[in-house]
Amino acid sequence: MATTASEKKLLIAGEWVETGDWVEVRSPYSGETVGRVAKAGAAEARRAVDAAETAMREPLPAHKRAEILVRVAGHLGRRHEEVAQTIAAEAGKPLKAARVEASRAMSTFTFAAVEARKLAGETIPMDASQAGAGKLAFTLRRPIGVVGAISPFNFPLNLVAHKIAPALAAGCAVVLKPASQTPFSALLLAELETEAGLPPGWLNVLVGPASEIGDVLVEDERVRAITFTGSGEVGWKLAERAPRKRVKLELGNATPVIVEADADLDDVSTRLAANAFSFAGQSCISVQRIYVQHGAYDELVSRFVRKVEALVLGDPLDEATDVGPLIDAGSRDRVLEWIEEAREAGAEILTGGTIEEGLIRPTVIANAAPELKVSCEEVFGPVCTIAPYDTLDEAIELANGTRYGLQAGIFTRDLKTALNAVQRLDFGGVTVNEAPTFRADQMPYGGVKDSGNTREGPAYAVRELTEDRLVVIDL
Ligand code: NAP
Repeated sequence: MATTASEKKLLIAGEWVETGDWVEVRSPYSGETVGRVAKAGAAEARRAVDAAETAMREPLPAHKRAEILVRVAGHLGRRHEEVAQTIAAEAGKPLKAARVEASRAMSTFTFAAVEARKLAGETIPMDASQAGAGKLAFTLRRPIGVVGAISPFNFPLNLVAHKIAPALAAGCAVVLKPASQTPFSALLLAELETEAGLPPGWLNVLVGPASEIGDVLVEDERVRAITFTGSGEVGWKLAERAPRKRVKLELGNATPVIVEADADLDDVSTRLAANAFSFAGQSCISVQRIYVQHGAYDELVSRFVRKVEALVLGDPLDEATDVGPLIDAGSRDRVLEWIEEAREAGAEILTGGTIEEGLIRPTVIANAAPELKVSCEEVFGPVCTIAPYDTLDEAIELANGTRYGLQAGIFTRDLKTALNAVQRLDFGGVTVNEAPTFRADQMPYGGVKDSGNTREGPAYAVRELTEDRLVVIDL
């Protein structure tokens, strides 16, 4: 058994392990200690890889993997409130959003269980060539091998679920390194996995210095794939350092949304207010750049600002709170500096831009030049920009004017306009009449350009974590 809620051990080879060193976790809101977790280093990381490799020597059949994944979904359902409270406490995510995350993780495990049962290769039509005549050939989908998984702080449960569940569905053992600021949700999930009957070694969880643990995952040849969600700075370096591994990256965005003059402006303003500021903008697809067609601009700005000002700022553990803290003081200072840079460059702060009891008020900025950080970098805070445009061509050019390409959105009642934008927006996903912050867990979710090189969603992740083995039989 793991120890108390506020003191957790690492999971290596089915054992809950202490190291004598601890990582302390503090509430991003109050600064109070949430708890502490045993701290791993390179030695624990090597032991975890040993355990994962040993586990994979005795493969788990697909029906067992599926049963375990379904049981985890059930446990998440039974302990839903505890899970949500854990997310809220360590990440500072408002409870309302934390509950949604807990439910989504159930869905991620459920879909992964389906994929475990469906995993199959294909038959090759051998007599389609002269060379193949007289042969039967088919492929088997084989697990790629030990998977190293690295996850960020902002969805400490469901993004861990998107790493673990598809890997197990694919038949791969996992060495997981969750974000140091939010390890409790991941360790709770590990506890649920063991309760669900996952044998020792299939899931190992390490909390500790990122570079030390990351180096082992990069250097150990037995780790055949690294699945990473986080910042581009870290992700692309990992990919460069491990050219022989499959390194799958889910990275950031500076999410644009286009609002045509014919859109339902009341509906648009409601959706954008919620999706630019939920979890204080700390989502990789948080609405950041809003482009509104002239004619609708003044009305949308007025409706939108009113709804933004109605958002409740406060303690994430309070039921009423919509917007809580950023993950740490460093992030808060950085976001305030970016707002200040915009203000000094002549941009207009329509609302927010101030601190209230330590929290940044949701901030809407007009007339922000494209080269300002709030316009072209990922803010990852409660800030968005809003600007008018004349033609759809202009809006698409503005939306595409970024090194990122995760998701974008358009609001319009005109089908032709919507499909035109869908074809030309250079992003991994485009939403129509929905905020681009939307994600359901079975979707193929991922980016182009600097935003990554893969698609997550259990069906797609399982494909990434398996390899074809060709079998040829002479008849
Ligand atoms: P981060 O700083 O890149 O950290 C992500 C993970 O990488 C953490 O577990 C971190 O560990 C680890 N890490 C840091 N340096 C490492 C190294 N040298 N080697 C190996 N691992 C290392 O990102 P974050 O601040 O947690 O998350 C925010 C970013 O994630 C944003 O850019 C956001 O857009 C992106 N994101 C993308 C998606 C998506 O699906 N596309 C989803 C969510 C978030 P420590 O915590 O120990 O430093």
